[in-house]
Formats: sequence, C-alpha cells, structure tokens
Amino acid sequence: LMTDIVTVMRAVCGAVIANRDHLCDLDAALGDGDHGVSMAKTFTAVQEQLDGLEGEPASVVLEKTGMIILTSVGGAMGPLFGSAFRAASTKLTTPPLGPTDIADAIAAARDSIAEVGGAKPGDKTMLDAFDAATTAAGAAAGSGADEAGVVEAAAQGAEQGAAATVDMRASVGRASRLGDRTIGHADPGATSVAIMLRAAADAMSATAASPAGP
Ligand code: ADP
Ligand code: MG
Repeated sequence: LMTDIVTVMRAVCGAVIANRDHLCDLDAALGDGDHGVSMAKTFTAVQEQLDGLEGEPASVVLEKTGMIILTSVGGAMGPLFGSAFRAASTKLTTPPLGPTDIADAIAAARDSIAEVGGAKPGDKTMLDAFDAATTAAGAAAGSGADEAGVVEAAAQGAEQGAAATVDMRASVGRASRLGDRTIGHADPGATSVAIMLRAAADAMSATAASPAGP
C-alpha cells in the first residue's frame, strides 16, 4: 500500500523547515551560510501548494514541486533539487507504482543532479548522498523490499553518503574555494538530501504500520 504522496511531501517540507538553522550552520562552515534559508523558503512555498494537490498522483505532485523549486529563491540548490524532483516525477507516471518505480525515481533524481551540476561522486556535494541512496534503493527493490522499505533503504544510504562527505574535500561549487579547509565538515546539500529522504521514509513506515492508513 502506497502512502499518499501529499502526506509524504508534508513530512519532507516539515523536516526541511525544522532543520533551517542546522543547514545554515553547515553552510556557514563551507559556503555562504544561506543553504538552510534557501531550503526553508523554498519548501515553505512547496508546503503552501500541497493543500491544492490533495488526491493528485505522485507524478503530478512531484512535477509541481520541481517547478516551484526551480522558480524559487537563488542558490545552487534551486536548479539541482528542482530538476531532481521533475526527473523523479517522470518515473512515476504509470500506476500502480511499486518498489522498482520508486528506486527508478530516486535514480533519475540522482542522474539529473549529476547532469545539471556536473559533479562526480566524491566531490563533496548532494550527489554523494543521492548516489548512496540510489545504490541502496536499487538493492532493496532488487531483493524484494516493499515501497516503504525502498525509501527506508534510500534514507539510510543518504545518511551514510552525507556522513561520508565529512572526510571529503569539496571540488565543485562555492565550497571548493575553501579547498582543504572543507575537510571535517558535512556538506549541507548532502545533509538536506538525507533529511528529506529520512522524513519520507518515516512518513511511509508510519502509514504502513497503521491499519487505518490510506
Ligand atoms: P550556494 O552554494 O549557491 O550558496 P546552497 O547553499 O543553497 O547554494 O547549496 C549548497 C549545496 O549545493 C552544496 O552543499 C552542495 O551539496 C550543492 N552543490 C553546489 N554545487 C553543486 C554541483 N555542481 N553539483 C551538485 N551539488 C552542488
Ligand atoms: Mg550557500
């Protein structure tokens, strides 16, 4: 049983907004300190649109989310996350959606970020979290996990991928100007990815566990 996508996105928005200061602190060490503000502003705009998307399919909700992010405030995150949500939406157009569709959507988001940003794994960006999430989600789908299990695996992968950025030296984006001084700090964008996927996984397992869930 798939958790309603609007419920999942409400959880994602809530988690991003709650982590605004944490994400700014991470970005202050590596960049210009605005990542949490940009994320919170953007996901507040996404959150405001969710009421009007109640009952819409996942593909529509994620496509509209991507458009809001693309047209929101500046920073590197806009085009990267905007394109990621839009790319994910294209893998979710044919219901009934199953575990493999979700793993494919995460992979498409990853590919889109790589294409738009031009970063490689190990460059200390959000791609490192998405890369680990994609591998974990694909493995989970391949070994028979259900939809919530695939997103849980993606969340764990993203958390590990974000943690792994601590030891990396940033080689793309604003943080690359600090060179070796970026070692020892988690990448803010990778941390955002982990926060979003963790919120999605928790929302999906909470609904799956409840017999009264949709
Ligand atoms: P800005 O760097 O413009 O201030 P943000 O602070 O919102 O933008 O976002 C910074 C995050 O964006 C970084 O932590 C990193 O994860 C991500 N990022 C920056 N450039 C790239 C890129 N070329 N590819 C992938 N991710 C990137
Ligand atoms: Mg910044």
